[in-house]
Amino acid sequence: MMALFFAATFVVLWRAGRMKRHVLGFGIAFALSAIGFLITHFMPADAFYLFHATQVFYTLGSAFLLASVCERVGQRLHLGSIAIVYLISALTLALAVNFSNDVGPRLIIVNMGYGVMFAMGVTTLLTARRRNMIDLLIILVMAFQAADFLVRPTLTLLFERTIPAEAYRDSIYYSLIGLVLAVKGMSSALVLIGATIAEWTKALRESSERDALTGLRNRGSFEQSIRALLPRAQTEGRPLSLVVADIDHFKQVNDFWGHQAGDLAIAGFGEIIGKMVRACDTSGRIGGEEFCIAAWNCENEPAERLAERIRWAFTRLEHADLNKDIRLTASFGVATAREGETYESLFARADAALYRAKSNGRNRVENAERAPQDEEKLASKPKLVELKQAVSN
Ligand code: GH3
Ligand code: MG
Ligand code: MG
Repeated sequence: MMALFFAATFVVLWRAGRMKRHVLGFGIAFALSAIGFLITHFMPADAFYLFHATQVFYTLGSAFLLASVCERVGQRLHLGSIAIVYLISALTLALAVNFSNDVGPRLIIVNMGYGVMFAMGVTTLLTARRRNMIDLLIILVMAFQAADFLVRPTLTLLFERTIPAEAYRDSIYYSLIGLVLAVKGMSSALVLIGATIAEWTKALRESSERDALTGLRNRGSFEQSIRALLPRAQTEGRPLSLVVADIDHFKQVNDFWGHQAGDLAIAGFGEIIGKMVRACDTSGRIGGEEFCIAAWNCENEPAERLAERIRWAFTRLEHADLNKDIRLTASFGVATAREGETYESLFARADAALYRAKSNGRNRVENAERAPQDEEKLASKPKLVELKQAVSN
């Protein structure tokens, strides 16, 4: 019942969270194990096929569980090796069933098989590059399963010696197995449910920070990120540059080719930006066809060159929904953070440079660090946020 309950929990998490298939794999693993438990419990204890039937379901359950925990961290379990372990233990089991009525050897054979499978799973998990707290916990739980399968049957049977098949359900082994399986099933399920919920919340947080059209950060997330980067750049003594970009004459794109074509052009621009920035940079779509890049550890001139590369790449981009010979352009403003400068002030200077790029003919990059005096003054005028604050005070 517990295993079935956990199976249902994983299926619900998988459906409701639209999660990857390894979560469904956990559910299938628990369902297969539940079928194994039911067979063990309800088939006649001396039925010839009892051990073979349960072995098939437990093996499939273990294989699903191990393949899924491995897939979760991007590793692939070697299913061929699992199949070989199964075949060897199934053949040895057939001999044990044929030649002795004692279930002891049967139990040792099948459990050794599961132990080896779990050990294979653990070694595969250990080769994964990713390893946070939850990954470690999963490895520990799987290693505990392997150790239990390899050691417990032999220890119990040393104590109990022989168990005739018909007396199997009255044995100490059988009463112990109920407890052991409950503990193992529960610990595995709880760790995996925890891991799944952690994955779900991470995916939700990431999608709430992303702009759906371009996959870059949305405005809120970009601003939050650069506000954290600015003081860090100061304390670490690293340069931080800001590039703002705006597609030229974009209203006309919408007017001539429709909003959907416009959306595709925005997505194309976003894709270029995403490809051209480094992993340590932060980029976002801060408005309709306006984008920002916070270039970390980047002096003013390299930032200007980055903007230039993006500008050039965009002028060459073909747009599927526009006429074949139509190319779009964008204008850019670049500014580099000064000592103690706020995001508002840095943005205002980059934005003023962008405005200059627009009035100087568009399709160009202008640099706030080479700005004429009046642009500096314009950029340092009280901004909307400050005005709002002043009003509310
Ligand atoms: P400029 O060269 O001066 O930037 O001219 P522009 O026409 O691009 O002017 P502006 O930047 O002010 O106009 C932006 C236009 O972008 C207005 C709006 O119709 C369009 N737009 C804003 N958000 C979206 C969007 O999500 N999708 C589409 N297709 N269009 C958008
Ligand atoms: Mg605009
Ligand atoms: Mg524009």
